[in-house]
Amino acid sequence: MRVDGGHAIGVDLGGTKILAGVVARDGRVLRRHERATPHDSQEHVVVELEAAVRALLDDSVSALGFGVPSPIDQRRGVVVQCVNVPLVDAPLRDHMSALFGLPVGLDNDANAAAIGEWHAGVGRGVDNLVMLTLGTGVGGGVIAGGRPFRGANGAGVELGHVVIVHDGRPCQGSCTGRGHLESYVSGLAAGVAAREAFGPSADAHRLVRLANEGDPEAGRILAEIGRYLGSGMGSFENVFAPELMVIGGGFGVAAWEHLRPSALEIARREALPPMRDSVRVEPARLGTAAGLIGAAFVGFEAIDAA
Ligand SMILES: [Zn+2]
Repeated sequence: MRVDGGHAIGVDLGGTKILAGVVARDGRVLRRHERATPHDSQEHVVVELEAAVRALLDDSVSALGFGVPSPIDQRRGVVVQCVNVPLVDAPLRDHMSALFGLPVGLDNDANAAAIGEWHAGVGRGVDNLVMLTLGTGVGGGVIAGGRPFRGANGAGVELGHVVIVHDGRPCQGSCTGRGHLESYVSGLAAGVAAREAFGPSADAHRLVRLANEGDPEAGRILAEIGRYLGSGMGSFENVFAPELMVIGGGFGVAAWEHLRPSALEIARREALPPMRDSVRVEPARLGTAAGLIGAAFVGFEAIDAA
């Protein structure tokens, strides 16, 4: 049953910050709250998520949504395992629903970002889109046929963990895979390439800054990262046939003008017609607010599903 009135609180759990906001049905963020992400225990993380909700809660709020950097078991409403936050096998949905007496939605942070861009950003009005979030790692979100696509158990999609180089570089964190997209196009991968070229103090920010200043070596490194990104983009175009491919995340948006030419060239080589001719590729528009806006819409979904 769709309820048009009311707001939702969206909470985006990141590795360093918890970003929360009161969001209207039209995607406007009415109020915001930010606090640090603790790293000492699961209990502390949950307490801080509760505090972020309490800081914003009022009578206008009819749902809560959480975006967390983990695969989600949607059947049980459980955070399976966060990579860089101590949250494992956490039944966050039922806990928050019981505590606040509201419908609660839960999703992966990159899914939430894609949902945010779909409702309130560059993807507004588009029924089929793929978003790649290039931050520390690489996340993905898919809107298919006007609905978020989540696969069995609701744990999809993990577009950063597709193989683009057989037996290639080892992946990060708890992932045992090799040659995954994340190992080639994440901010972390860009940092590794930056240090190899410019010394131990270099990182992805400096790499992008040097490229902006016209440094040919920095430009070459980002163009090479763009080629790997294009392999992923072309493959996803073949799988999902999206109208729109959105490149987001801190590194993705900052580096996009340098990644773009080679990424589009390779994506066009790999994608088949009609996919390659009908897809638009755009950078994300909502910046760091995409995750909390999308999380709020996951909260609205929980109302509509009830
Ligand atoms: Zn992986």
